[in-house]
Amino acid sequence: MEWSWQRIPSEFLVTGVKLCRRGKLGKRKGFLHVRKGRIEGLGVGIPKVEGVPALDGEGLICAPGFVDLHAHFREPGHEEKETIASGCKAAAKGGYTSVVTMPNTDPAIDNSGMIRYLIDRGREAGLCRIHPTGSVSPGLKGQGMTEFGDMVNAGAVGFTDDGMPVENGGLMSNALKYADVLGVPIITHAEDKSIVGKGCMHGGYWSARLGLVGMARAGEDVAVFRDVELARSSGAHLHVAHVSTKGAVEIIRRAKAEGLRITAEATPHHISLDHSRCRDYSPLFKMNPPLREADDVNAVAEGLADGTIDCLATDHAPHTDTEKEYQFDQAPFGVTGLETALGVGITYLVNTGIMDMGKLIQCMSETPARIFNLPAGRLEEGAEADFVLFDPERQWVVAKDDFQSLSHNSSFLGETLTGRVTATFLGGRLTWRDQD
Ligand SMILES: [Zn+2]
Repeated sequence: MEWSWQRIPSEFLVTGVKLCRRGKLGKRKGFLHVRKGRIEGLGVGIPKVEGVPALDGEGLICAPGFVDLHAHFREPGHEEKETIASGCKAAAKGGYTSVVTMPNTDPAIDNSGMIRYLIDRGREAGLCRIHPTGSVSPGLKGQGMTEFGDMVNAGAVGFTDDGMPVENGGLMSNALKYADVLGVPIITHAEDKSIVGKGCMHGGYWSARLGLVGMARAGEDVAVFRDVELARSSGAHLHVAHVSTKGAVEIIRRAKAEGLRITAEATPHHISLDHSRCRDYSPLFKMNPPLREADDVNAVAEGLADGTIDCLATDHAPHTDTEKEYQFDQAPFGVTGLETALGVGITYLVNTGIMDMGKLIQCMSETPARIFNLPAGRLEEGAEADFVLFDPERQWVVAKDDFQSLSHNSSFLGETLTGRVTATFLGGRLTWRDQD
């Protein structure tokens, strides 16, 4: 008995799929059995159940729903770029079932009421689980601390002034101590503004040639070093956002070897593209941290492969077409990522031999869930049926009219990627199905 996509029953099977979990892609075909929103069973071969409607997933990989630790949904304040609902649609299309949102909205997410508001808006949209972070300082102004305890009670999963660094080392040190008591991480946007100044791209050959103000690597390295040392003295959990330099990778590698509680993420664009992409002055390659040099790209990708960097996180940062048509130095920083992350990961990491499929999927699901203590990323009996089906060989061209996000500012527009999400399920409910 087959079931139709139009009406997904409360109990069903997906058969003929390769299961991908715990860092390994199964060699033999298997099945997933879903019942009342949970995983009833899974394994290789054909399930020993009768009368349960089945979908033939021949050729597809079945993996835990992806978990993004770094997304900017622009609500409240800039709903023309992205709302919680449109961001959740983009997430579902990309195979994500859990998303951690950044607090640099307008106004900022700096109190428990705002945390509750985001969680409620996410529930209304019903397409993915929203886990908000709160800001370290009120209004992200870098002065004083917000009420961490209130926000954690309301559902905040960490604190950050992302978009801006916490420049004051004393404030960062206190933030780490308080967050540690509450059992949540501080996420650092590691950037020393006094070094980076008004830079708009990586400082190197291309910035000199293009006549644009560069952002030196040292601006990131120094900031990562400071925060690692502050985490050392408090023993707190520091999570380094969007690592982009080889120096930062090395600092994190050493800190981990010393047993510090440091975790880190890298974005799809930093493991794939270098600063030469800015050569035509297209703001679609303008983000912060910027695209670096080939050495950095390799070091970040290798860091992800060897576990120095724990996970792939999108830094999904939507902006309107109008803003991204400004001159390079005037345009805002940031690119979208939720809908292209899997394709970029497969194209640039798996198909190049840097890591295998099992490891990539782990970096996009189980590991981010584990390091942020989120109830997600598990493809196991009894777990919520949050999962994704994808075709690892399907090639597609990234096109502007193909996005669910309200914004189209992707660095990969026009590129052919390999690997595309076929369907995403949240608690056994279909949240995305590819119609192509
Ligand atoms: Zn950031």
